[in-house]
Amino acid sequence: MYDVIIIGGGPAGLTAGLYAARARLTTLMIEKAFTGGQVMTTEWVENYPGFEEGISGAELSQKMEKQATRFGLEIEQGSVIDVSVDNGTKKVTLEDDKQYEAKVIIIATGSNPKPLKIAGEDEFRGRGVSYCATCDGAFFRDVQLAVIGGGDSAVEEGLFLTKFADVVYIIHRRDQLRAAKVVQERALANEKIKFIWDSVPESIEGDTSGVQSININNLKTGEKSKLDVKGIFIYIGYNPNTMFLQKLVKLNDSNYIIADVNMSTSVPGIYAVGDVREKPLKQIATAVGDGAIAAVSAEKYIEENF
Ligand code: NAP
Repeated sequence: MYDVIIIGGGPAGLTAGLYAARARLTTLMIEKAFTGGQVMTTEWVENYPGFEEGISGAELSQKMEKQATRFGLEIEQGSVIDVSVDNGTKKVTLEDDKQYEAKVIIIATGSNPKPLKIAGEDEFRGRGVSYCATCDGAFFRDVQLAVIGGGDSAVEEGLFLTKFADVVYIIHRRDQLRAAKVVQERALANEKIKFIWDSVPESIEGDTSGVQSININNLKTGEKSKLDVKGIFIYIGYNPNTMFLQKLVKLNDSNYIIADVNMSTSVPGIYAVGDVREKPLKQIATAVGDGAIAAVSAEKYIEENF
């Protein structure tokens, strides 16, 4: 039996892993894809302290992983489908039927991009429709692109896409951006970015070679129009990855885990950290704080209960 199992390997999980392993708790991290989570697919991070010029998301993820494994964190690739509790012992079941037991579980599963749910989105996914500019941006050189959304992700990734594209249309449903002011200023000053305000996409059209256009509706005027674009990057927010919990811990109405200041969930010995928990600010800087708190809480819980 492990002392701690961490589910999810983004910055929150990796920091929990660093603190737990360094406290000499036997610690296993289970990650379904690659460590770093959403940071791994972020081109450039410039608001995480310690890197005055910024750092690539991939490099930051690798540094966090190396630091945690240096202290003994074990990392296994696998997809968790169930977590159960029997007399204080937690059991984690993976997709391939493997099971692990632990005294403490730290849930750090983050969230996944929300789909627009419009015609053509599924059909052209991977053929022009993308949720990751860092992964797919370089495929779209010297063409027109659309980005959907007005938050930090949409505007930052829209700016990144100007490295490749001729024009990046940012289509936003209001006339004011949600993104941080400094990012807004940069985007408004960028000649390759054109904002389309008060508008929502209605459908995506294309042919065998992929996306060719997007149909949009101006919510204020009701005017419908078509934009010729070869790529559409969707950044309209995220859904938390809590489906596998089967109502084990208390969730809010949007399915985020409710946790207290110690990162404790409604089940003793189960903690939640990072973007998967209900919190006012989802940043790398706040995720790593969550991870540190959860690991220290876990240590106390184990001392008192095992
Ligand atoms: P977000 O802040 O939730 O923004 C989502 C955007 O999509 C909003 O502008 C929203 O419009 C729009 N939207 C939502 N549903 C829509 C729909 N059905 N159709 C059209 N538009 C829709 O998501 P995010 O930008 O991915 O950011 C998530 C979190 O990560 C935030 O807390 C953000 O600050 C953080 N983040 C931080 C950084 C950074 O600090 N460098 C980078 C990326 C993300 P409304 O504005 O009208 O609601």
